[in-house]
Amino acid sequence: MKYKLEKPVNAGIGTANYQCHITWRNGSFIADEPVSKGGQDKGADPYTLLLSSLASCTLITLKMYIERKEWNIPEIRVNVNMYQEIKEGTTVTVIDRDIYFPEVIPDEQKERLQEIAKACPISRILENNVQVRTFMKKDGATAKSILYSNDQITVVWKPELCQHSTRCWKELPAVFDPKVRKWVNADGASAERIMEQVHRCPSGALTAIIK
Ligand code: SF4
Repeated sequence: MKYKLEKPVNAGIGTANYQCHITWRNGSFIADEPVSKGGQDKGADPYTLLLSSLASCTLITLKMYIERKEWNIPEIRVNVNMYQEIKEGTTVTVIDRDIYFPEVIPDEQKERLQEIAKACPISRILENNVQVRTFMKKDGATAKSILYSNDQITVVWKPELCQHSTRCWKELPAVFDPKVRKWVNADGASAERIMEQVHRCPSGALTAIIK
């Protein structure tokens, strides 16, 4: 398992309805709801953000392909929208993506680009099996703790809090190995790397103290 992003997208909301402050690799922006839904329209709403992801991925994928082919297509535009309908008791979401080119380009190139667009990474995610796993960090002050130490670090594991995300042992198998009884090996990586991994535990089951 390897996450697509080195750092997760981080978002927070406070008292101002419904401004979400979203931090990404190289900056931040605001998401909001329109006034009709009680927000202040200070940023794109979640549906717009979802569709923007598809729109930008489409354009980037096409641009890369055009560059590789050395075709003369200076501009590509895309409109994306969606609707939902109930079919046989199930909600079906349909996303329509309209691609167009301000300049005239040959039909054969358009046909090829249509196929390329269908295979862009975000299209594939949206059309395939997507699972959203939700974890919640807990305090667990009274939960039983098991300690794993060396002279650099003590890793504390609270089994009752563990939500079995698999994140620790898939990302740092030299330290976390659920197949062995003493499943945390504090000697398996530097104290700093272990601490970094401990901070990625989504449940609060892992904490650590550097000595
Ligand atoms: S990262 Fe945390 S919640 Fe996930 S398996 Fe490891 S200890 Fe459990």
